[in-house]
Amino acid sequence: LTSDLPRTHDMTITLTNTTTLQKDMLRCVSCGKEYPSESVRHICECKEPLEMGLFSGKVRSGGSVWRRFRGFLPCQPSKKLSIFEGDTPGVKAKKLSKEFGVELVLKNETVNPTWSFKDRGTLLSLQRAMDIGVKKVGTVSTGNMGVSVSAYCKRAGLDPVVLVDHDISNEKLNQIAIYGGTVIKVSGDYGDLYYESLKIGKNKNIYFSNSNSPYRIEGYKTISFEIEERSLPDYVVIPTSSGGLFRGVLKGFVEMEKSGILDRMPVPICVQAEGCSPICRAFDSHEKKIKRWHDPDTIASAIANPYPPGGEEVLRKLDDHNGICTTVSNDEMISAQLKIASEGIFSQPASAVGVAAVEKLREKEEIEEGAEVVSIITGSGLKHLFPRPTEHLEFSCDISDLKDLFEKSRKDEIE
Ligand SMILES: [Zn+2]
Repeated sequence: LTSDLPRTHDMTITLTNTTTLQKDMLRCVSCGKEYPSESVRHICECKEPLEMGLFSGKVRSGGSVWRRFRGFLPCQPSKKLSIFEGDTPGVKAKKLSKEFGVELVLKNETVNPTWSFKDRGTLLSLQRAMDIGVKKVGTVSTGNMGVSVSAYCKRAGLDPVVLVDHDISNEKLNQIAIYGGTVIKVSGDYGDLYYESLKIGKNKNIYFSNSNSPYRIEGYKTISFEIEERSLPDYVVIPTSSGGLFRGVLKGFVEMEKSGILDRMPVPICVQAEGCSPICRAFDSHEKKIKRWHDPDTIASAIANPYPPGGEEVLRKLDDHNGICTTVSNDEMISAQLKIASEGIFSQPASAVGVAAVEKLREKEEIEEGAEVVSIITGSGLKHLFPRPTEHLEFSCDISDLKDLFEKSRKDEIE
């Protein structure tokens, strides 16, 4: 896992017009090289991600998000595979809206079947694998995707291989284990693991449903469709690691604009953890290339990719859409996690970065007062049960002393 695969593409290559791409083709987001969609490739020879062309269409009424936006999707998930992913609520955060001076909505992805947004992408990616007769599936994961891919593989009757980071939390490991499959804990550079897995996949005929799989991106688009149906915000805040979610959400909005469903684009906000923020570092120094982040140090393990495979495309998209890129510290995300809990939602620290970013950007007045903001709460706090808040009240007593304890606390309250 020590191999370093430098990206060899030439940034001066002009992008061809993506709207002319047949939607059943895959095209490199950087050099424009095209591949047939029946290819199981995820990345171009130049190492940048492949993406499907832009879809356009009309929205149907009724049914799940997969049916309403059927015309925008490369395949229709079967009932045999789907376990009701997506159609998550946008929860008005009344307290936080007042505190920050914005209209804040929390897009609650924790209610997906395996408690994170990954299920939307896994569904389409695994549907694709089944449609082309794949027999072996794998993924590279810090946890969320491993759980999701394991669940859908189990449902499809496949045994997945899940390559996880060696310091994966017990909560996440237990969730993967319950679904079965093979877990390989890997130490070394997590960014390299992505490329290594694709090489192994090619040699051993394993379909790796990784963060940047083109079909995954198509699944993540459904988040933007649902956001638009509720109310088009001024800003969409996206926790970003490998760049798959960011790219999917942006692609959804672009396709809706192209189809005349939107007449403006929300401003995308890419948020990374301060202790591992290669995309924001490049953005701040106006670099077009991502440099590897050495020694990641953050509690937000779910978004700690030191060498994100879609990072350069995220930079280009931020540029195209006047986006914002910002980082938050461990303390800021823990504080935000508690604030999100005050609205009734238990998010992972990695998912709380969005709300922490909104607070910061309001202080710096980069988000104007009264703006409508949607922050995507990407995954559940149950996947990451530390740190335990220290501020909450906690007592222990024997059952025989319980009455006294209540008497005492009532007396304290009166005093
Ligand atoms: Zn390329």
